[in-house]
Amino acid sequence: MHPPHPHGVNEEANAKGVREGEQVQAVLMDLYRRMYAAFGDRGWWPAETAEEVVIGAILVQSVAWSNVVKAIGRLRERGLLGLEALHAAPVEVVAECVVPTRYYRAKAQKLKAFAAHVHERHGGSLERMFEQDTDALREELLSIYGIGPETADDILLYAAGKRSFVIDAYTKRIFSRLGLVDERIGYEPLRAWFMRHLPADVALYNNYHALIDAIGHHFCSARRPACASCPLLPVCRYASSQAADAQPAV
Ligand code: SF4
Repeated sequence: MHPPHPHGVNEEANAKGVREGEQVQAVLMDLYRRMYAAFGDRGWWPAETAEEVVIGAILVQSVAWSNVVKAIGRLRERGLLGLEALHAAPVEVVAECVVPTRYYRAKAQKLKAFAAHVHERHGGSLERMFEQDTDALREELLSIYGIGPETADDILLYAAGKRSFVIDAYTKRIFSRLGLVDERIGYEPLRAWFMRHLPADVALYNNYHALIDAIGHHFCSARRPACASCPLLPVCRYASSQAADAQPAV
């Protein structure tokens, strides 16, 4: 048995591992306001062009952003921070530039595969590729070597400006600790849940995911979450259950 949810969301998670009900949108927006009060507008994605967003989204797989910044700098120095340049460059040269990211040989192949796809299907133009509607573009992105759902949604939201919610490990951890979704929930059901309940606003999606990333990075670590200073403490089931466990038995 769980204690009553701090947000007053009383239904148990349904068979898909998410809570439903009219109040879910209000809960999500309340969480947004709390995160926004702490971190404001995050101004994502940290890149100068849509092509740089795509390159960063591929490079950030399984690695910290600080490593990506180093690799982006090396690509820029070599004149390779663009899809057509990547398409023309030998894979070994690309791999040498992205050494600071883990699995750099595979990352170089993924960058080359994406660049080749855009070159062959869209004449090297991301703008032309992004003219499709969101579902068709997502399907095409997922068909490219090395592009999984999180990378596809990063590209859709932050490079193409399409309404597609991004899920990452922080999202699952934080929202399951808040008591709103099952910790074993899959990527697609969790993405669909956010998209069902959040207002259809690309700018909101953009900053919502960035704020989740900030909470995960600064407070909600896997092993030792810093609940005492987290802006979500007043509405977090995990934190309230930890506090209850810490009470001395009477
Ligand atoms: S209060 Fe603790 S468990 Fe809850 S979201 Fe914040 S850091 Fe994570």
